Amino acid sequence: MDNAIVWFRDDLRLQDNPAFTAAVDNGYRVIPLVISEQTVPASAHTWWRHYALADFQQSIKSSGGNLCLRLGRAEGVLQTLIDELQVKAVFWNRRYTPTGIAIDTGMKQHFKALGLEVKTFNAALIKEPWQILNKTQKPYRVFTPYWKACLHEGLAGANPLPEKKIHWLRTESLALQELELLDHIRWDKQFPEHWKPTRAEGLEQLNHFLQGPVHSYDCDRDRPDIVGTTRLSPYLHSGLIGVREVVSAIELETALRSTRSSVDSASFVTGCDKLLSELGWREFSYYLLYHHPECVREPLQESFKRFPWKKDQKLLRAWQSGQTGYPIVDAGMRELWQTGWMHNRVRMIVASFLVKHLMQPWQEGADWFMQTLLDADLASNTQGWQWTSGCGVDASPFFRVFNPVSQGKKFDPDGAYVRRWVPELKRVPLKQVHEPWLMDAGLQQASNCVVGDQYPKPIVDLKQGRERALEAWQSIRE
Ligand code: FAD
Repeated sequence: MDNAIVWFRDDLRLQDNPAFTAAVDNGYRVIPLVISEQTVPASAHTWWRHYALADFQQSIKSSGGNLCLRLGRAEGVLQTLIDELQVKAVFWNRRYTPTGIAIDTGMKQHFKALGLEVKTFNAALIKEPWQILNKTQKPYRVFTPYWKACLHEGLAGANPLPEKKIHWLRTESLALQELELLDHIRWDKQFPEHWKPTRAEGLEQLNHFLQGPVHSYDCDRDRPDIVGTTRLSPYLHSGLIGVREVVSAIELETALRSTRSSVDSASFVTGCDKLLSELGWREFSYYLLYHHPECVREPLQESFKRFPWKKDQKLLRAWQSGQTGYPIVDAGMRELWQTGWMHNRVRMIVASFLVKHLMQPWQEGADWFMQTLLDADLASNTQGWQWTSGCGVDASPFFRVFNPVSQGKKFDPDGAYVRRWVPELKRVPLKQVHEPWLMDAGLQQASNCVVGDQYPKPIVDLKQGRERALEAWQSIRE
């Protein structure tokens, strides 16, 4: 029996894993490999990766193998193993970041030239980015027709499990601690209270969502004060769960429900369609990154290259540390710091505030998110920032400037979210909880929230900030 390496990256699962299935079904003995290149800058995501790897290690162990963990540059590590273990084939699932594509393309050519069988697969997406093109055979630039075309072709469900018996080749491995993934950051103390990075937990969350919250997802997904979304993003990003597994779970649940009451199934169908279209935004983000790799640093709308940003480290620090004086912005930034995650509605509010009211470059915000999010994903993050800043394709128009006070009142109507993450606001009455500076001096004292002392004064005047941003925008349109 010949040996094949299956090189796992952001696909830490044995199910719905076409590279793994192909290696087994092509009759190879499998060496499951993870390489840590140690080039990752300090980020919250490395905390997640440590525990996700521990879980993946365990699942391979339960099926009789051992995960080979190595440190170093990918090509060198692969070459050493290929030589030591007389490896005949290398299989992996594709990446779509510009760096990932460059490394993988080089490696594929190199190992093929040495006579190895090298095969790559799609485990990360419902559709490959080159599969969906418009009538003129060009990539779509607008989400709705793109997603319609995907739906028209049909959404693929989970990839099959191997049909043959799995044969593992046990190899020497570093201990997980030797990858030093936990030593990168110092702000992870509270993460375990909020997250369990295991596949079982991700599947449980998905199942729970499809049994209840899905019915009200269409309206609740905009409410940061309630758990109305799946919170699956870090599981999907690390590949503990595959996006096609979510599609399959929806299909299965839909089939099971087809016999139940129509009221129940109507809300279920609405919720599932909405969830699928959110997964569609994830796909579209990968699609844009693939077709426009420069978008990681450059705005997709040319005119924004001339935008007169007003770079200011003090403002950036206040935003990063949740000290802007605007409750919903501060709550979001503190939630992010403490839990490694932030609700989508709040991501949009804080991003709009940084870029428009504070006129800081969107790239600064995107970098901070990449450092602090457990689901830090180059594709979704880049598109999230370009969309909110109005400089991407099919983006929210720049002139739509989110007002953090009215957004707070609308989407956190009881003030529960801001009180949870900004304890200074705990005793502020509901009427002023999204604009505490409106309390008179007596009420500020009584609420333990003296503005300018216990809680910051607003760092920018909303009206002036908005006007300044719109003037800057006009200047690049002329
Ligand atoms: P749900 O509402 O349950 O959605 C299910 C899944 O769909 C998510 O897990 C995610 O994979 C996908 N999804 C949902 N909304 C979006 C969206 N707008 N764009 C792309 N995919 C989406 N998402 C990331 O995974 N990583 C990021 O680094 C990231 N950065 C963002 C930055 C900004 C400025 C903005 C506005 C959005 C960003 N998003 C990012 C998208 C979105 O905020 C998160 O995917 C979502 O909040 C995750 O929560 P959930 O799993 O409960 O989502």
